Amino acid sequence: MSEENCIFCKIIKREIPAELVYEDDICIAFNDIQPQAPMHVLIIPREHLRSLDEASEKHTAMLGHLLLTGAEIARRQDFAENGYRTVINTNSDGGQTVFHLHVHLLGGRLFIFPPG
Ligand code: 5GP
Ligand code: ZN
Repeated sequence: MSEENCIFCKIIKREIPAELVYEDDICIAFNDIQPQAPMHVLIIPREHLRSLDEASEKHTAMLGHLLLTGAEIARRQDFAENGYRTVINTNSDGGQTVFHLHVHLLGGRLFIFPPG
């Protein structure tokens, strides 16, 4: 899917609504529309990348920033001590359904490993 039709780019441009929990120059974070846990936040880069598979060395700092942002949101929402799960689904076997790179941040229940 191109940038023009991308639902997450539309959220970045405020063309469709979302419950924002954080934003800065590099990323924005908002609540998942179909939460799979008491905390289910999506952290996405402002830059449109289809998936982790499209990332390269030049995205190293951005990718690190997404993870550290997730950790900060988990602390702010008081899920850090009990723990949480960060997930990046990539392409079809990875279960990716929205093709704008995103980190899922899930907390507030126990997660099994490995995931199904
Ligand atoms: P994926 O399956 O690609 O890893 O995750 C996509 C996630 O985006 C899903 O958890 C889905 O519920 C969420 N999602 C899809 N469309 C929207 C939307 O319009 N708004 C929000 N907030 N989340 C969405
Ligand atoms: Zn996009």
